[in-house]
Amino acid sequence: MSPPLLHVSDLQVSYGAIRALSGVSFSIAAGEIVTLIGGNGAGKTTTLRALSGLVRASGTAEFDGQTLLGQPAHRIVARGLGHVPEGRMVFANLTVAENLAMGAYLDRDRDRVTRNREEVFALFPRLRERLRQTAGTLSGGEQQMLAIGRALMGNPRFLMLDEPSLGIAPRLITTIFEQIVAINRQRGITILLVEQNANLALEVSSRAYVLETGRVVMSGPSPELRADPRLKATYLGG
Ligand code: ATP
Repeated sequence: MSPPLLHVSDLQVSYGAIRALSGVSFSIAAGEIVTLIGGNGAGKTTTLRALSGLVRASGTAEFDGQTLLGQPAHRIVARGLGHVPEGRMVFANLTVAENLAMGAYLDRDRDRVTRNREEVFALFPRLRERLRQTAGTLSGGEQQMLAIGRALMGNPRFLMLDEPSLGIAPRLITTIFEQIVAINRQRGITILLVEQNANLALEVSSRAYVLETGRVVMSGPSPELRADPRLKATYLGG
């Protein structure tokens, strides 16, 4: 078997006296969609932030055979690891076009930037319609599309999405999840999806890890986890 694209071992993070991650380990092969599920405060966001270089962590995390931990966030982005943060964090006062341009600020290849923009518009046609609109006036779902589009402008090989369904109208959730699958299938981008909506996450992923209080308590193929009685009771609405 080829080595995983991302291999995380014994990841530990503390915020002062609060221990958020107590030794999280998982692997993701190139081309997979893997999901991390878990309740409030389980450590999902912290895991993504540690991999993106946004919080200090101990343990090891290797991306394409090279270490991530201790690297500055901009270098991690440049290596092809994209992150769509929880709450979307678009630049509210900038237009849709300007937000997308921010996502491409490391890219000197203007032709590729134009190509990437067209691909983002193919995934989310609404963004083209709203190019001159300030991002803060978009709906929650449209802001999520923009946040994903902005991350795609950075040419990721690996994309981490933090709660893309949070606070979004059900109709747009479906669209966004269809496009997450398209990003994986059509563009070959490996995906790590963090979700509280476990049903949805297990539907689109091939494998899953369940986090509880900073530890992995269960993992396996998504169809198996969907049928697991313990998971059903806790995360899948019985
Ligand atoms: P949620 O789905 O509610 O966002 P999560 O699984 O993403 O939860 P994290 O946000 O990673 O969980 O939080 C893990 C733990 O770390 C929680 O106990 C949380 O209160 C704590 N924590 C997170 N960020 C900070 C911070 N900046 N300072 C102190 N504690 C924090």
